[in-house]
Amino acid sequence: MPERVFQGMDIIVPRPDPDPSISGRRVGEFPGNKARRSASRMRPRPLELFAMDPIINYCCACGGAIVLRVPPGDSLPRHVCAACGAIHYRNPRMVVGALAEWEGRILLCRRAIEPRLGRWTLPAGFMENGETVAQAAARETLEEANARLELHDMYTVISVPQANQVHMFYRARLLDLDFFPGEETLETALFSEHEIPWEEIAFRTVTQTLRHFFEDRSQGDFRFHAGEIPLPSPAPGDIDAAIKSP
Ligand SMILES: [Zn+2]
Repeated sequence: MPERVFQGMDIIVPRPDPDPSISGRRVGEFPGNKARRSASRMRPRPLELFAMDPIINYCCACGGAIVLRVPPGDSLPRHVCAACGAIHYRNPRMVVGALAEWEGRILLCRRAIEPRLGRWTLPAGFMENGETVAQAAARETLEEANARLELHDMYTVISVPQANQVHMFYRARLLDLDFFPGEETLETALFSEHEIPWEEIAFRTVTQTLRHFFEDRSQGDFRFHAGEIPLPSPAPGDIDAAIKSP
């Protein structure tokens, strides 16, 4: 067991129906967007934050109905307000975190929230408007583990196209051992390489980052890693069904 140190076209494209199986696939790697702790006590967490790409029905500028349409000069259908013409772009979101070391061991947090409740992760979460990537990494680590860091280099940047996210992790050094679980964390602990609960890691980007770390450390050479979680390829049966369907 790990030591618990502390505890041009203007074509209207038909809108897809909100198919539960599709929205299930839309649930992202880090859908539990972390409201700031103080703020989360003040107001209920918006449900949309748990879904990857919630359906937009109404324009947030004028309340008009939204249609999916390829704007002039664009190449993809966008959520366009039929009344005021506002284009509501939706682009990948940044999930930022830290791989924080203390004497060769790594700080992990056991999640107190869905998804992946009870599984272990590096402290990480959605970047907020108005902050830098480094600030986001430090803030998330403080929120999830009440841990203070000295940030080092950006270490991994991993695309997660099925979740429309990009996950980034810094290497970092813990400044002290006075960490303890934040509101969204059940447990915080330091793990040496052989103690890492590989089968209980919450997210594949965290697994990738940890594997890079231990591999690089064994080589004595830490370098930046850009990676991706590949889109799942369709099973042969799915392709047959797609060809046969009208
Ligand atoms: Zn509008």
